[in-house]
Amino acid sequence: MAQTLRKKCLISIQKLARISAADEYGMVNCVSCDKRMSWKDCDGGHYISKGSSSYWALEIENVHPQCKGCNAFGMSKGSAEGQYTLWMIDWYGEDFVRQMHEDKRKIKKLYTADYKEMLEEFTRLIKYHEDRLCHI
Ligand SMILES: [Zn+2]
Repeated sequence: MAQTLRKKCLISIQKLARISAADEYGMVNCVSCDKRMSWKDCDGGHYISKGSSSYWALEIENVHPQCKGCNAFGMSKGSAEGQYTLWMIDWYGEDFVRQMHEDKRKIKKLYTADYKEMLEEFTRLIKYHEDRLCHI
């Protein structure tokens, strides 16, 4: 039960990260290579990979739009990860990003009720952004 909910939360937070970054025309820029695309065509890329940190996996500060090329292979190829780091420092400041890395291995224990609450919140926010975007 909690695992299924966790998966749903991960899908939702990635959708929220994509749509909340979109301008009124639904366009976003890849945080790694600056490519411009529709929020529907990008990925919600984790800065600290979701597999390596339960603490940050479901935090919106850790998820931002990336093109599929940059998000592929867990960012292990090319300069995608380095560029993402620079973007994070520009956006949140160096102290915050350092803190993210320090907290990376902390354990965050989430229960069914937490996931349910989270999912409701993400769904509400996604709806808000869907209404905000221009509908052509
Ligand atoms: Zn890119």
